[in-house]
Amino acid sequence: QKQSNEKSDVIFRSKLPDIYIPNHLSLHDYIFENISEYGSKPCLINGPTGHVYTYSDVHVTSRRIASGFRKLGVNRNDVVMILLPNCPEFVLSFLAASFLGVTATSANPFYTPAEIAKQAKASNSKLIITEARYVEKIKDLGVPIVCTDDGESVPIPEGCLRFTELTQSTEIDTVEISPDDVVALPYSSGTTGLPKGVMLTHKGLVTSVAQQVDGENPNLYFHSDDVILCVLPMFHIYALNSIMLCGLRVGAAILIMPKFEIHLLLELIQRCKITVAPIVPPIALAIAKSPETEKYDLSSIRVMKCGAAPLGKELEDAVSAKIPNAKLGQGYGMTEAGPVLAMSLGFAKEPFPVKSGACGTVVRNAEMKILDPDTGDSLSRNQPGEICIRGHQIMKGYLNNPEATAETIDKDGWLHTGDIGLIDDDDELFIVDRLKELIKYKGFQVAPAELEALLIGHQDITDVAVVGMKDEAAGEVPVAFVVKSKDSELSEDEVKQFVSKQVVFYKRINKVFFVGSIPKAPSGKILRKDLRAKLANGF
Ligand code: AMP
Repeated sequence: QKQSNEKSDVIFRSKLPDIYIPNHLSLHDYIFENISEYGSKPCLINGPTGHVYTYSDVHVTSRRIASGFRKLGVNRNDVVMILLPNCPEFVLSFLAASFLGVTATSANPFYTPAEIAKQAKASNSKLIITEARYVEKIKDLGVPIVCTDDGESVPIPEGCLRFTELTQSTEIDTVEISPDDVVALPYSSGTTGLPKGVMLTHKGLVTSVAQQVDGENPNLYFHSDDVILCVLPMFHIYALNSIMLCGLRVGAAILIMPKFEIHLLLELIQRCKITVAPIVPPIALAIAKSPETEKYDLSSIRVMKCGAAPLGKELEDAVSAKIPNAKLGQGYGMTEAGPVLAMSLGFAKEPFPVKSGACGTVVRNAEMKILDPDTGDSLSRNQPGEICIRGHQIMKGYLNNPEATAETIDKDGWLHTGDIGLIDDDDELFIVDRLKELIKYKGFQVAPAELEALLIGHQDITDVAVVGMKDEAAGEVPVAFVVKSKDSELSEDEVKQFVSKQVVFYKRINKVFFVGSIPKAPSGKILRKDLRAKLANGF
């Protein structure tokens, strides 16, 4: 990890002034600070059923569930796993964990048993909250399971507890919480290696939410009259923070959709008059390309924020043309950064013009700098380099992994993102490349090291490297360069099958290239850039 020379560093800040951030508060006290103003307002709307939870419902129920967790032996600083698709119970469980001073680790319910087991063990989860249909995958972990199903249309599997029983407890009394307690533990591979637990504290998340929605310019992103779409998965920190927590903080209504389906999405936008639609590039693509889009009235949308992966200019223009009333801007996040580093100021009450391709300006109360990846020198405007960020919003570190933490956050507190970007004359950030290994399939993380570790376990594979290949629909897809053992007849299909059985759908290998050797630096590090260049040149 290159350290930079602090004194001569060029530091970039937001165009908006810093704000007061009450990050001495616990996340739940901060989120519900203004609840007296909107207790009876709709808070969570269950998209498929139309069921509405008011702010008071959410506040009371999550405190009851916190008591229920405690009765099950879960205590401050323990970890509970939320293994759920988007649903109100996800939010209630997360808030309950916060009230109890417990850490919530979220995982994709589509993960394979092995993927879930890895995270449950690494995080030392004491309880798993899930649906009956996923119990088969986790029943051998020896961890108590709570099912959110109603128990009537879907029976609760034997040995599992009922979520509704937790909601019968009395509300929890105040638990003493330190701002440095870890409240969320999403998993991310960061700039290199395997997925790691990202420790996000109360202080970190309060800071991040405030950077997005608090302060003098309250229309920056959300306000209390908004109806916010939540179709992006809450198990990823982008939706959990930038939709859920930001929405709760301002007193908005959050419309929860368990999965993306273009017809249903368009129908809900029209019927519920959604005003803010946080999306990712594949949803932008669906809106732009679907012949259905024209059939619906989408004029209620005032803001569309796209993030998690690059959004090309053509797609940006195509979506804007379909929803002309909406301001479209990008946000740039990274789980370890809490996650928001930059966001468009085009949403602001007095908006700044949005530049096509820009992913906004650095958030308030934070510092950003751009480092030359080779020399570590701090670069000035218009020069591309590694984006680094500093502020209270970034992670405390990786769980039980001080080495990986030290590789990502330097001694001066700068988080090195592994993304290459530049800041222009108007303080707009443009991401131009990715230095790190990470592959992003429709915004989902795919860690090459994880797939390489699986593949090298195949008896006919002597060496392997996985990189991302450009793909119109997914952004990128993982492809493998494989060195087979001598005389092996291993086929492309066999390699693909071998991986498919062990991973969630978006980590599947899309193409296999059999090669004589893998290019490596003298240190043994895979020269991924060379492989990506091979792909770009039509390998
Ligand atoms: P994650 O931790 O899963 O949120 O992934 C973070 C990574 O996604 C970043 O480090 C970027 O490489 C990429 N990313 C997020 N937002 C954007 C964006 N607006 N444009 C380009 N890449 C992005």
